[in-house]
Amino acid sequence: MGRGAMLCSIATVSLSGTLEQKLAAVAAAGFAGVEIFETDLITYPGRPRDVAAIAADLGLAITLFQPFRDLEAMPEPQRARAFDRMERKFDVMAELGAPLLLLCSNCSPLALPDRPRMIADLHELGDRAAARGLKVGYEALAWGRHVHDHREAWALVRDTDHPAIGLILDSFHSLSRAIPSSSIGDIRPEKLFLVQVADAPRLDMDLLQWSRHFRCMPGQGDFALADWAEAILRTGYDGWWSLEIFNDRFRAGSASGVAQDGHRALLAMHDAVARRPRSPVTPTMPPPVAAERIAFIEFAASHAEAAALGTMLAALGFAPTSRHRRKDVVRWTQGGINIVVNSEPEGFAHSFDVMHGASVCALGLVVADVPAALARAQALGVPRFEQAVGPDELDIAGVRGVGGSLLHFIADGAEAAVWAHEFPQPISQPAAGQSAQGQSLGLTAIDHVAQTMTHEEFLSWQLFYLTLFAMTKTPQLDIADTLGLVHSQAVESAGKGIRITLNGSQSGQTLSSRFVQHYFGAGVQHVAFACPDIFAAATAAVANGLDLLPIPPNYYDDIEARFGLEPALVDALRAHNILYDRDGEAEYFQLYSRAFARRVFFEIVERRAYQGYGAANAVVRLAAQARFKPPTS
Ligand code: MG
Ligand code: MG
Repeated sequence: MGRGAMLCSIATVSLSGTLEQKLAAVAAAGFAGVEIFETDLITYPGRPRDVAAIAADLGLAITLFQPFRDLEAMPEPQRARAFDRMERKFDVMAELGAPLLLLCSNCSPLALPDRPRMIADLHELGDRAAARGLKVGYEALAWGRHVHDHREAWALVRDTDHPAIGLILDSFHSLSRAIPSSSIGDIRPEKLFLVQVADAPRLDMDLLQWSRHFRCMPGQGDFALADWAEAILRTGYDGWWSLEIFNDRFRAGSASGVAQDGHRALLAMHDAVARRPRSPVTPTMPPPVAAERIAFIEFAASHAEAAALGTMLAALGFAPTSRHRRKDVVRWTQGGINIVVNSEPEGFAHSFDVMHGASVCALGLVVADVPAALARAQALGVPRFEQAVGPDELDIAGVRGVGGSLLHFIADGAEAAVWAHEFPQPISQPAAGQSAQGQSLGLTAIDHVAQTMTHEEFLSWQLFYLTLFAMTKTPQLDIADTLGLVHSQAVESAGKGIRITLNGSQSGQTLSSRFVQHYFGAGVQHVAFACPDIFAAATAAVANGLDLLPIPPNYYDDIEARFGLEPALVDALRAHNILYDRDGEAEYFQLYSRAFARRVFFEIVERRAYQGYGAANAVVRLAAQARFKPPTS
C-alpha cells in the first residue's frame, strides 16, 4: 500500500492582503505550511521573528523563504556581492525560522555559461548554508539564461553533491516548456527539497508574462498535473507540495477564498493521482461524487413573488401538484422536472429571498452514495448545511454550494419516497389567487442550469464542481456581451445528466453583470428545459401567454445563409423566436422567456445529437435582452 495524505503549503505571493491577513487565511484554509515571499517580509512593519511568532501561533510551518536570484557563475565582483547578499538573507532566515531558501537559476545577462563554475558556486553555497544549519533548493526558471530545464538543474545539483543543496521542482517551469514528466524519475527523492505547484491555461505567449499573470490552481488550467505529480510521488518524495500562484484575479480576490480554493485543488490533485492504477499513494477521501441528474430546483420567493413566478411556471406548462407536509412550499412538475417554490417566512430560503429576491436558492442532485458525497465534501472543506427539521420531516443532506446557495443530495432510487413523504398533499385545483394551469409544453428534463458570477469568482466556482463531483469541463469560450466580455464554460457529469454553464463577466457593465447586480450576488441566471419538439413547445407557450424573447429578423437571414437552411424551416424558426445552431449533422434549437424580476429567465431547448449550448447565439440573445426594456414597477 502506498502513502496517504500530502503536506500542503502555499506561497504568500499567491494571496491578496497584508502578510498577517495572508497567514491567517492560509491557516484557516487548512494548510500546514507557508512559503514567505521576500516582498511580503520587506513590506511587513515588524521583524522576521515577529512573523515567525505569528506563524507559530497559527500552527504554520515556514517551509521556504524565496526568491534568491542571480548567484551561480557570475563574474567578479558580482560573484562576491551575490555571496554577501546571500549571507544577509541567511540572517533573515535564521530569525524567520525558515529552513530552506529558493535559488532561481541565473537570469542575469552577466551569467557565464560555465558549468564547472556553476557547480563550484553551488558547492560553496552549500558550505555556507550548512554552516548556518540551512538548505538551498535550486529551481530552473523557464526563462533562465543558461539553465531553464529541470533536467539540467537536477544534473547540476547531482554533480554538486552537497547535502545542503537540493532541487526545487515547479510545475509551471517544467510544463510550460513541455518537458516530459517521465524525466522526473531520474531525481533522487532526498535531493528533491520542495515541490511547487501551479496550473495554467495553454497560452501562446512570453513565458515570463504567462507565469506572472496566468498561473492558476491545479485543475483550473490545462497542464497534465496528475502525470507530473505521479512522477514525483513515484520517486518516493514525501515532502511539501507548495502552491506558487501568480494570478491577477487571485490578487484581486479574497485571501481566504483563494486559500481555500488552493487547499481544495491540491487535495483533489493528490486524490486524482491516488485513483490511478498502480498509484504510489492511496486515496484519503471518497471518490468524486457521481451525480446523475438534477432532482429539483428550489426557488425562494415571498408570497407576492411566488404568485408572479407561478404565472410564469404555468405558462411554461408546469402544474402545481402538491404542498409540503408542514411548510409553505409548493411543488410544480412537468415531465421529469420538479420545481419547488419555497415561501417559508423563516429559515434558509427566507434569508436567501431577503438577500437576493426571488431566485434559485438550492439544487437537489441525485447521487449514487449520499454519505460518501458528504464525506468528500467535508474532506474538501465544503461546509455541510443543516437546518432544523420537524419530527416527521426527512433531513435531506445538504452542503453549501457556490454563491451562498445549497446543494441537496438525494440517493438514487429514493426520490419517489422523498416526494411522497415530504409533499403528501395533492393540489387538485388552483387555489384562490393562484394562476390557472396552462397546457403542458412537453418539457421532459432540466437540460442545463446557467450560473453567472464575477470574473474573480469564475475559477472558484469551476473548481468547486470539478473537485467535488465526477464532472469534466468544456473548453472556455469568450462571448461578446453588448458591453463587455463574458467567459463561458460548462461543467458536465459523465452521462450529461447534469450540465451547468458558468458565466464570468469581466466588465461591470455586461448584461451578465447586471444579472449579478440585480441578484445582489452571483447565482442561477437561467434554467433550460429539454423537450422533444420545440415548435410544439413554442406554440403551447404562446397559447399559455408566455412572453418570449423577440429575436431580430436579421438573425434569420443570417442563419439561412450561414447554414443553407430550407426557407420553410427558417420561417418556422422566425415565427417562434427560435434560435438555431448546428455542429456537423447535430442540431440545436433554443428559445428564451423574458426575465422574471430581471434576475432569472427560462430557456427551452431541443437537442438533436448536439452537445453544446449554442454559444454562437449567445451574442444575439444578450443583445435582445439588452434591448428589451421591462416595464418599470
Ligand atoms: Mg517557483
Ligand atoms: Mg442556456
